[in-house]
Amino acid sequence: MTTKSAAAAARATVYGYPRQGPRRELKKAIEGYWAGRVTADALGDASAELRHANWRRLADAGIHEVPTGDFSLYDHVLDTSVMVGAIPARHRAAVEADALDGYFAMARGTRDVAPLELTKWFDTNYHYLVPELGPDTAFSANSVKQVAEFAEATALGLTARPVLVGPLTFLLSAKPAPGVAADFRPLTLLDRLLPVYAEVLADLRAAGAEWVQLDEPALVQDRSFAELNATARAYRDLGGLTDRPRLLVASYFDRLGEALPILAKAPIEGLALDFTGAAAANLDALAAVGGLPGKRLVAGVVDGRNVWINDLGKSLTVLGTLLGLADRVDVAASCSLLHVPLDADVEHDIDPQIARWLAFARQKTAEVVTLARGLGRGTDTIAAHLAANRADLAARNASALTHDPAVRARVAAVTEADGRRDRPYPERAAAQRTRLGLPLLPTTTIGSFPQTAELRTARADLRAGRIDDAAYEERIENEIREVVSFQEKAGIDVLVHGEPERNDMVQYFAEQLTGYVATRHGWVQSYGTRYVRPPILAGDVSRPEPMTVRWTSFARSLTDRPVKGMLTGPVTMLAWSFVRDDQPLGVTARQVALALRDEVRDVEAAGSSVIQVDEPALRETLPLRATDHAQYLAWATEAFRLTTSGVRAATQIHTHMCYAEFGDIVRAIDDLDADVISLEAARSHMRVATELAAHGYPREAGPGVYDIHSPRIPGTDEVVGLLREALAAIPAERLWVNPDCGLKTRDWPEVRASLENLVAAAREVRTTLPGPLS
Ligand code: GLN
Ligand code: ZN
Repeated sequence: MTTKSAAAAARATVYGYPRQGPRRELKKAIEGYWAGRVTADALGDASAELRHANWRRLADAGIHEVPTGDFSLYDHVLDTSVMVGAIPARHRAAVEADALDGYFAMARGTRDVAPLELTKWFDTNYHYLVPELGPDTAFSANSVKQVAEFAEATALGLTARPVLVGPLTFLLSAKPAPGVAADFRPLTLLDRLLPVYAEVLADLRAAGAEWVQLDEPALVQDRSFAELNATARAYRDLGGLTDRPRLLVASYFDRLGEALPILAKAPIEGLALDFTGAAAANLDALAAVGGLPGKRLVAGVVDGRNVWINDLGKSLTVLGTLLGLADRVDVAASCSLLHVPLDADVEHDIDPQIARWLAFARQKTAEVVTLARGLGRGTDTIAAHLAANRADLAARNASALTHDPAVRARVAAVTEADGRRDRPYPERAAAQRTRLGLPLLPTTTIGSFPQTAELRTARADLRAGRIDDAAYEERIENEIREVVSFQEKAGIDVLVHGEPERNDMVQYFAEQLTGYVATRHGWVQSYGTRYVRPPILAGDVSRPEPMTVRWTSFARSLTDRPVKGMLTGPVTMLAWSFVRDDQPLGVTARQVALALRDEVRDVEAAGSSVIQVDEPALRETLPLRATDHAQYLAWATEAFRLTTSGVRAATQIHTHMCYAEFGDIVRAIDDLDADVISLEAARSHMRVATELAAHGYPREAGPGVYDIHSPRIPGTDEVVGLLREALAAIPAERLWVNPDCGLKTRDWPEVRASLENLVAAAREVRTTLPGPLS
C-alpha cells in the first residue's frame, strides 16, 4: 500500500442525511396523505424533491459519493423488512392490495391490525420498527426502492452509494413474530436471508452501483461466538458472489471489538469504522490486526450524534495515522446524520458566540469535506479552516458559559456523604410512615394528567402573545384545581399536581437551567413523523431560581393529602438532550444533579413530604458494551443520589422508570436508594415484581397495574388479580398501587374510570390483608 495514493484518493462521504427537509416538509406530506389531503402521487413527488435537494446539497458541499436508500417514509428498518419480504402475516393482504397503505399499516397499525413494535435504535433516540420473524418466514427480494433511489441519484449525474441495513443487524434487531416461541433466534434464518441480499446486490450492480454499503451497527455490541461465526460466514458468502458491487461494511455507535479481525479478513472491499468517543479504540485495534491492506477504509471522524464542531486538527492526526493502515482512506461522519438537526445556520436566536461552536448535519458535511481535502491535498489547502476552528475551540474552552467557577468549585467539593441519605432505609421508612399515615397498598399516579387541547391552546396563546403570563397561570391553576379535586374524590392517597405547565419533561427544566440552549428548528426524527427538538447542554449548569415549587405548593394548598413534588432526574436530563463533548458525561451529570438537588431541597422546604425524581432514561443510556456498564452506572446512580440525598429522613423519595426489562440494571436501581420506585409492569404480567423480589429489593415498589399505553380501561377485578400476583412477591407493607406511566397521552374519561377502578381494587385487596387496616 502506498501512503501517497491513499491520501490523494481521499474522498468525502456520509451514510445518511436528515429526511424531513428544512421545514419538515416530509412530515407534512405524509400526515397529509394519512388525512386524505395529499395523494399518493403528490407524496411521491414531495419525497423525490426532498431526496434530490439533499443529494444536490451534499454534492454542492463537496461530498464525492452521496448515499441513497437512506431516505424513508417512516423507518429504514421497516424498509429493510419490505426489501427482504419479511411482511408479517397479518399485514400481507394490505401490502398486496396497496404497497404504500400496507407499508403505513405495518408502521402504525389499523383499527383491526396491530403495527410492528417500535423500539430504540441502539443507544440513539431514534425508534425503529422491529422485524417480526419466525421459523416459517420466507424471504423474497424486493429491490424496487433501493434501485429506484439509486437511479434517481445517478440521473442527476451524481456518484452514489446505496446504503442498506446489513443482514446481521437486520436479524439481530428482529424479534420472534407473535405466536412464535419466545426463544426463537432470528439469526437462525441467516442462510435463508443471504440469497435475498445477493439478489438485491445483483440488482444494484445491474443498475450501475459500483459500491454498496451494508450497515452493521449490531456488530459493535457484545456478540456471542456463534454470532461472530455467523458474521464471518455471511461476509464470506456475500464476498464470494461474482455478480455484485464492491461491498463497504459500515459499523458505528461504538468500537467493533471482536468483529474487527473478522471483517478485516472478509472478502469485502471496504470497511467503515467509527473513531469518535469510545469508538476511538478502533484505531489501536486496527493497527493490531495489521490494518486493511488492499481495502478501502472509511473513517468516521466527525461525530454524527452530537451537535458540536469537530476538532479538525485532532481528526487530521487520526486520519494521518490511518493512512498507513489501509489502501485508501476516505472521510465520513461517524454514523448517519439522521441523528442530528439539519442546519445550525438557521438558529438566529442562539447567541452568535455559541452558534459558532455548533455543527448540525449541514455543518458536519462541510467538516467532512474539509478533512478529506486536508488529507488528500495537504493541510495547507485548509489552513484558513484550521485557524478558524482552533479559534472557535479556544473560545469555547475559555468561555464563562462552559467554565463557571462557582459551578466548578461546587462540583469539586462534592463528597461521598453528599450522595448518601443520612439515615438507613428502615429508619426512613418508619419516619415516613408516621409522617404520611398512609394505608397499606397506597394509591398514587406517576405525575402527569391528560394534556388537554385547552392546555396546548393556552401554551400556544401565551407564546403568540394572545394571553399574558397572568392569564396563562390562571389556566394552569384551574387545571391543577380540577386534577386535585378529582384525585381527592377518587380516593387516591398520594396526589400529584398533574404537570399541566410542562410541555415536555426535559425541556421544561432545560428552559429554566443555566447552561442549556434551546433551538428553534433543531428537529430530529424520533420515529415516523414524530420529531423532537432536544435541548443542548452547552455550558456549566446552575439553577438561578426554583423551577417547580410554585405549582407543587399551589396544589398542596388545595388539599390535606400529601402531594408529590415532581422532577426529572439528572440521567434523563442528559439522555434526552445533546450533551457536551468537552468534558466527561459524569461531570455534566454531577452539575445537573447539584442544580436539581437545590430544587429538591426547596420543594421539601416549601412543605412537600413526598418528592418524585423520574429516571425513565436510566437504562436506555446504558453503553452498548458490557465492559462499559459499571463506569456508566457508577456516575448515573451517583447523580441520582446527589439529587435526592439532601432531604430529611421523613421526606419520601420516589422514582419512576418506564420499562419492564430491567434485569441487567436491577443492582443499579437498588443503588439509587429511592424509598419508593414505580415501574412499568402492566404488560409484563407482574414479572417486574417477581424480578425485584428475586433480587431481594428491600424498599417499596409500585409495579404498574394500569397500562397507560393503551386506551383500554382495566376492570377492578383485573387490577385485583394483578395486585394479588404482586403480593406474592412484594409484602403488603412495601407495595404501592399505581399506573405504569404518566397519563398525559390519555383522555379524561379513560383516566377517570381507570383510576376509580384502581382505587376500588386497592380497597378490596386491603380488606383481605391481615394486620391493621386504615
Ligand atoms: N412524571 C412523568 C409523567 O407522568 C413521567 C413520564 C415518564 O416516565 N416518561 O408524565
Ligand atoms: Zn414512565
